[in-house]
Formats: sequence, C-alpha cells, structure tokens
Amino acid sequence: MVEKLDYTQQNTWSFTSGQQQSPIALSVASSQVVEAPDLFEWQVPYYGEMLSDQGNNMQLTGKGFAKLDRRHYRFVQLHFHAPAEHTIEGQQPVMEWHFVHENALGQKAVVAVTAIIGQANPQLDQLLAAFVPNTALPVPEDVLLTTLLPTKGLIYRYIGSLTTPPLSEGVEWFVAAEPLTVSAQQLAQYRELFPQDNNRALQALNQRAIMGYDLNGK
Ligand SMILES: [Zn+2]
Repeated sequence: MVEKLDYTQQNTWSFTSGQQQSPIALSVASSQVVEAPDLFEWQVPYYGEMLSDQGNNMQLTGKGFAKLDRRHYRFVQLHFHAPAEHTIEGQQPVMEWHFVHENALGQKAVVAVTAIIGQANPQLDQLLAAFVPNTALPVPEDVLLTTLLPTKGLIYRYIGSLTTPPLSEGVEWFVAAEPLTVSAQQLAQYRELFPQDNNRALQALNQRAIMGYDLNGK
C-alpha cells in the first residue's frame, strides 16, 4: 500500500522554515507585470513514461528539457492536485498540474497549470486509462506533454516551497494564469480514484514579491 498523506491534518505537518511557503493567492493587482515573451523555451519535447500511485494523486515521471528564464532545467515529473492549490484572482480551479523541474545544481522549479471544466483533455484520458492503483507502471504509450505547457497569457512567478512535506523552501514557481480544461466526466473519474482533496491551504505571502510575466509581450 502507498502511504497516504492526510490533508485533514496538514496543520500538523512540520517544516524547518516558514516565511516562504506555497501555495499562495495570485492576482494581477498584487503582481508586478512585465512583458516577457521569451520566459520559456520548451526545447526538447516532454514525455511521460512511468505512472505511479502516490496515495493522494498520480505521478508521471518522464523526460524533457527547457529553458526557464534562460536557465536550463530538466523535466522530472508531473503530478496532480484537486482542487487547485494556488488561487488566481480569488478563483480556485478544479485541478492544478505540477510540472516539476530540476537544474544541474538540484534547484527545483515548478511550472503549474490549472484546469477548469470544459473540453476533455486527451492526455488525462491516456493517464486515466493507464492508471492502476497501488502500482508504478510504464505507460503503454509515452504521453506527449509539451502541448500542455504554457505558451501564452500571464505567468505568475514567485519563490516558495514544496506543498507537501518536507515543505522545503527555495522552490521557484511559475503559475500560468490561463487554465487548461478537463471534462466534468474526467474530473469525476479522477475524483473517484482520489476522493480526498489534496490541496494545501493558502500560505501567507509575507515579504515576497510576485512577478507577472506576459508571454504575449509587445
Ligand atoms: Zn504539487
């Protein structure tokens, strides 16, 4: 069995520092918005390869390379939160997808994309079809993830933490304002597998600055 993190007891999760935690509430009004059409460079296609049950969500490890703000990162894994962890303009989308990256120094950067109800998402269909509870298995066909990555709209960027223990700080967050969509049926299917909410409560901003990078630029 996979050990399940208890989100009803998250106030008992321990952390070593506590001034730069995630998630947070995001809005244009609280951000400094600049044009940055070259913020992201999706260099080598992202593929998901191995799908595993993490107890509260599923995780897809894979490969891919990008430049995030001109620095090289390797895509490590994608996992899911339902409902979303960050709020955007006071709204909490039904899901948030975390693309976890690491650079050569071991520094972490997460590209987060939320999802609202709308058109079905083909990649989520592939994952729901491949998922087997309590296991870690290669997906039958590699799942192309590049098309899920943000290429337009506003990207919020701030320095935060992991949202699960050990809640380590120094994580760079890039959160897309523009959501993906999943169908109501996909969400229902996902929530049947993972009925417990796995969103950490909003954390205090404290002295941090939030940047808003406009990918549309110019
Ligand atoms: Zn996450």
